[in-house]
Amino acid sequence: MRVKIEREECISCGTCWSTCPDFFEEDPEDGYCSIIEQYRVGGDPAEGEVPADLEDCVREAAEECPVEIIHLDE
Ligand code: SF4
Repeated sequence: MRVKIEREECISCGTCWSTCPDFFEEDPEDGYCSIIEQYRVGGDPAEGEVPADLEDCVREAAEECPVEIIHLDE
């Protein structure tokens, strides 16, 4: 499963990195959501490959994002 985040629309609410801290983090530079380095595709903090054991929590984070900017490609 792939995931893409529209980072520029992030409101830094913290829901995703609270729900799924093994996959999402608060970027120390701009405060927006980023995918943690280990799971980035091509080093892009807005695009990642989700390991099987984190799929459920990434789905939950996507559903709970208040501005619906976490997009899944299953
Ligand atoms: S849940 Fe959505 S708005 Fe909140 S920090 Fe994550 S990506 Fe940003």
